[in-house]
Amino acid sequence: MPSNYRGRLAPSPTGLLHIGHARTFWIAAQRASENRGTLILRNEDLDPQRSRAEFARAMIEDLRWLGIRWSEGPDLGGPYGAYSQSERRAHYLEAWRRLRASGFLYPCTCSRKDLALAASAPNDADNDNDDEPLYPGTCRERQDAAEFTEPVGVNWRFRVPEGKVVEFADLNLGRQRYVAGSDFGDFLVWRRDDVPAYQLAVVVDDAAMRITEIVRGADLLKSTARQLLLMRALGYADPRYADLRYGDLRYAQLGHAAPDYFHCELVRDAAGTRLAKRHDALSIRHLRESGLTAEKVLEMAGWP
Ligand SMILES: [Zn+2]
Repeated sequence: MPSNYRGRLAPSPTGLLHIGHARTFWIAAQRASENRGTLILRNEDLDPQRSRAEFARAMIEDLRWLGIRWSEGPDLGGPYGAYSQSERRAHYLEAWRRLRASGFLYPCTCSRKDLALAASAPNDADNDNDDEPLYPGTCRERQDAAEFTEPVGVNWRFRVPEGKVVEFADLNLGRQRYVAGSDFGDFLVWRRDDVPAYQLAVVVDDAAMRITEIVRGADLLKSTARQLLLMRALGYADPRYADLRYGDLRYAQLGHAAPDYFHCELVRDAAGTRLAKRHDALSIRHLRESGLTAEKVLEMAGWP
């Protein structure tokens, strides 16, 4: 009898899966299995410029080869599909409409150049997966916001509650604490090329797919803080956070509990370079073709 635990593997088909991914996905599979839970595979192919069908096929083959099994996914179907983000636009659009109607979003017409000039925060090497420069707030109070009634054509940002502390207890790394407005600024939820941003899609999908625990790399810790704010704004939040409010906006008090988080340490080589950053012969595919066993690949990835 499966438990209520629902975990997910959420790779992006923008390249071959790397040894840096192997450990995280393996841990996700182990935790689902230890909890007698359900593991799902979600194909995060939101970005039409970077996602390719051949990589989506390869990631399924490589995960299977590693010995990882899931019971819902783009290849198997399931009750909470579609399991490819490119087929879930209606869900993201609905969330965008709700967030916009409650005043959490605003259109931003700043160019990349404007933002680069305003950015003063140094780049943190561990946060390059999900980080964007602290937005200076240029478009926050714009008077013409009501004229933008569809997402396409401008960037849409989430108005973070300035100074609000976002805390969560990570199951692996312990207590985490971020301050909205200084650790991260108003972040993108929809891009001007009409692609929903990572933060929005993940939150919408994790709620819709009833995910109870999120296992992913520690490079996404700060994104978790952003996503908790989004979750609360969308009313997916844990009732414990119902008092979170700012200005005239109030977070809805309903829905199921927020998921638990288990962020995995990033695997590095002897020189301290993150394995996920090395684009030499470290794809699972190449290691497998060079004759290594799945056990050996997991061992290289730092498992156990
Ligand atoms: Zn702007």
